[in-house]
Amino acid sequence: MPSDSKITFYGGVHEVGGNKFLVEDKGTRIFLDFGMQMGKLNQYFGEFLQPRAYNGLNDLLEFGLLPNLKGLYRPDYVRHTRFEDVKEPEFDAVVLTHAHLDHAAYIHYLRPDIPVYCSEASLLLMKGLQETGGKEEYVTFKRNFQLYKNTKGEMSRQKGEDIQEPRKISVFENAKSFKLDSIEVEPLAVDHSVPGVSGLILHTSKASIAYTADIRYHGRRAHDTQRFVDRCKESDIDIMLCEGTRVNKKSSKTEADVENDARRLMNSCRGLVVCSYPPRDLDRLLSFFIAAKESGRSLAIDLKQAYMLKLFQQSDTWKKVLPSPESSQIKIYIPKKSWGLIDKDPEYWTQKQISQDYDTWEREFLDYKNAVDYRDVAAHQKEMAFFCSDYQLLQLIDVKPMEGSAYIRSVTEPFNDEMELKEERVKRWLVHFGLLKNEKAWKHSHVSGHGSGDQIKHVIEGSNAKTLIPIHTEHEEYHKKWHNNVVETAFGGSLSIG
Ligand SMILES: [Zn+2]
Repeated sequence: MPSDSKITFYGGVHEVGGNKFLVEDKGTRIFLDFGMQMGKLNQYFGEFLQPRAYNGLNDLLEFGLLPNLKGLYRPDYVRHTRFEDVKEPEFDAVVLTHAHLDHAAYIHYLRPDIPVYCSEASLLLMKGLQETGGKEEYVTFKRNFQLYKNTKGEMSRQKGEDIQEPRKISVFENAKSFKLDSIEVEPLAVDHSVPGVSGLILHTSKASIAYTADIRYHGRRAHDTQRFVDRCKESDIDIMLCEGTRVNKKSSKTEADVENDARRLMNSCRGLVVCSYPPRDLDRLLSFFIAAKESGRSLAIDLKQAYMLKLFQQSDTWKKVLPSPESSQIKIYIPKKSWGLIDKDPEYWTQKQISQDYDTWEREFLDYKNAVDYRDVAAHQKEMAFFCSDYQLLQLIDVKPMEGSAYIRSVTEPFNDEMELKEERVKRWLVHFGLLKNEKAWKHSHVSGHGSGDQIKHVIEGSNAKTLIPIHTEHEEYHKKWHNNVVETAFGGSLSIG
């Protein structure tokens, strides 16, 4: 008799990311994460070969990029697929560890009546992503393929009013357990490169299961990771799903090292400091903010970061940690867009015409006291650290860095040919603007969101689970070195629990 309690792996095994783990217990069916398999997706799709909107589900199902399950997907898409329409959802919840694409992006495809449980910070990040022009509908969704009555009274495919329907999202609190029928879920904060990441301990009727999420010890919240590991040990874990993105890497620097590197450069630089870091890694933003403040500079951030910081001010917890977008040491950089009217004659162009250059969500920042444009950055280069990602290099044409300016790069190093080519292009720009002496040398200071081998070994040994399942890795051999009962699973494979 096959057990009715099991875990099925629809992504995240033998690959980095795409985690979608279905836990079933006494008829309760919950997914842990519902992420995009970025590596596998890129094997079939690319910039000019995207899944079709109307056929999105089928195009992804074709390559096993979404699980072939009924009662899971949103009705507007289901109508265009091979699935039969079912009235009630056949899944009870998705419990989300964090708001990175490889864990959360395919929430977009889910039925809106399947509840999503996540931390407050994950909800704020998803809201920010969606509201600043992201493609994924995480928090609300709009039905596709609907006809609307137009002004002539005809049924038309025109978009009509923008009717956003909410998803069912519940926020959980750190270390406060909640029940999903027969399964008790205990979310526990862990350290990773976005705020609000939770490892999970699940108590099912048959077994206790731990899931590390993405985890490390070298960020600002190492004590959270340790608390999770200690709690696993106390909970007598039967099965642990443990990530291993960087198990083959030796120890790395810490977030504090990155902050120190940035501070040193900002102190010694005689011109503008140009910096690039992952915009949603709010810990990194904080490192650059602190470094800037302590070296007498302001950090000029982009509009998306300003929007995210504004959202996080809504949280009693996070407003104590992250700076307000109105902080005196923050400047909000307003780029020239479409008509580029920001520096044009204000006697001729009205405020309304100028603001029409910007998306609705961007407009409020035009009126902020600390809003700046290229003229302000150009005039105060010694007092600024200017955020400039690889997608914003055009701003350098307007800003014109002065002699003695410097560049610091705080993003992951390229790990494929395509990324290397892109990096070459970035270097060429920086050499052109005098920010690099030659195309070889640049100041690189970055730490990953994932623990190195020694850290993961510590998690595995400290948690003391009976069975270990490597996930989010291509190097399962390390888990086997550090644990004597490793079970490997295949994509779509199940492991019975109890
Ligand atoms: Zn992650």
